[in-house]
Amino acid sequence: MRDADTLFIDGTWQEADGGRAFDVTDPATGRIIGRAADAGAEETGRAIAAARTAFATWSRTGAYQRAEVLWDAHRLMTERADELAELMTLEQGKPIKAARNEVSYAADFLAWFAEEAKRVYGGSIPSPRTDHRLSVQRRPVGVVAGITPWNYPISMITRKVAPAVAAGCSIVLKPAEQTPLCAVAVFELLAEAGLPPGVANLVTTGRPRVVGERLLDDPVVRKLTFTGSTEVGMALAARAAATMKRVSMELGGHAPLLVFDDADPVHAAKGTALVKFLNTGQACISPNRIFVQRSVLDAFTDELVSRVGRLKAGPGSLPGVSVGPLVDDAALKKVSEHVEDALAKGARLLAGGTRLTAHALRGGRFYAPTVLADVDESMRVYQEETFGPVAAIIPFDDEEEAVRRANNTAYGLASYVYTRDLGRAVRVSEALDFGIVGVNDINPTAAAAPFGGLGMSGLGREGGAQGIDEYLDVKLVGLVVPPAPPANRDEGEEPR
Ligand code: ADP
Repeated sequence: MRDADTLFIDGTWQEADGGRAFDVTDPATGRIIGRAADAGAEETGRAIAAARTAFATWSRTGAYQRAEVLWDAHRLMTERADELAELMTLEQGKPIKAARNEVSYAADFLAWFAEEAKRVYGGSIPSPRTDHRLSVQRRPVGVVAGITPWNYPISMITRKVAPAVAAGCSIVLKPAEQTPLCAVAVFELLAEAGLPPGVANLVTTGRPRVVGERLLDDPVVRKLTFTGSTEVGMALAARAAATMKRVSMELGGHAPLLVFDDADPVHAAKGTALVKFLNTGQACISPNRIFVQRSVLDAFTDELVSRVGRLKAGPGSLPGVSVGPLVDDAALKKVSEHVEDALAKGARLLAGGTRLTAHALRGGRFYAPTVLADVDESMRVYQEETFGPVAAIIPFDDEEEAVRRANNTAYGLASYVYTRDLGRAVRVSEALDFGIVGVNDINPTAAAAPFGGLGMSGLGREGGAQGIDEYLDVKLVGLVVPPAPPANRDEGEEPR
């Protein structure tokens, strides 16, 4: 059992009112592994008040000092990488190797934004009037509310806290109720890194709506940064409008992956197997629709099925496991409904298609890595985000059709293209209406690169040179410069 049932408010670890706490379970076994503090509106109000007080000082603290704290947090996270990865595997379920990769990605945001703190540039603008100066300054937006999901329980926190703190903002973070222990571990190291009290506050809760509403309705909170489902994101953005908060939203996706006939089908299948089953398909950039040109359909499909057959599902702590459990029963239900719906409408099952319950898998929510062929528009898997280990293959005939069908979604986060034709790579990557395009690249993400979507996938960008902008307001200062006063000389004196 992990004892982590405290909130972090104003630099102190404290219980929720009345000692309220909720259980945290291991999705691989269903066993209770710890407890987390269950904050409500009162505790959230105290966190907002602490953040407000801290903002007054932190926003005037020098960028180099803010950067130092983030560098210290980076060092601590790197030193504790193994410990954090083990905790993540226990609480979230992903294989230990994937957990280590995530910790490293999470630490990258601390380092990246430590440096970005020093690059919050302003500017000067030539005025139409010669006696006039215009300068543009950037200032932190104020108190930020962050709401993060369970699928990437550490990196989604640093992706929000690091830029907020770098910009001079203070933040109140509400992590997902499935993964509060990872959040506590991140805040422990932020506190050790010397972040002053109140700059970053953690409110874990089993009642997301209560805490969410308190954060959203408070006019002191000037910005909401959210990662989660489109449905919840829309509701939160609507509510944030009442106090005119800035919002950035990383929402759902419905990524297409296009395999053209000039691609190496074996290489493409290898990439597809890696990216599709990453995090058990529980990623907003997971390919949901795999479009394959007919002439390479068999070669691609055979290779994919053979690779998927070799993927081992199981508890993420076991060696050789590459597909962990789904997060909860609702996730399991959605995946099996999508598969059943597709099969009922004529898709062919080439691998998987069942829940796994044998031996060690009995207590968890495991679903066999699945491949479906002959998927079409009529099926739920084609229309909705599955968020599970299901590779849905859709044949196509030509480039125009592939791009048109790939773009035919309200979402617009990630997309992938396999081609060896340079002209096609340029044409298709330009034509895809998505915030991210990977060309022969299944991992087009980095702390240094802007991550975000179009359409119903959200607003704003995280990471990259753009990431800190989300936490900064622009301020214009105009200045009238009067002419110099006339020289005050004695009559008759010769100028020297
Ligand atoms: P997912 O489907 O990935 O679980 P959600 O959008 O349900 O995505 O959850 C993402 C985050 O949003 C989590 O931290 C969750 O607790 C939070 N959340 C869900 N519903 C609400 C709500 N009504 N108000 C505030 N936060 C919410």
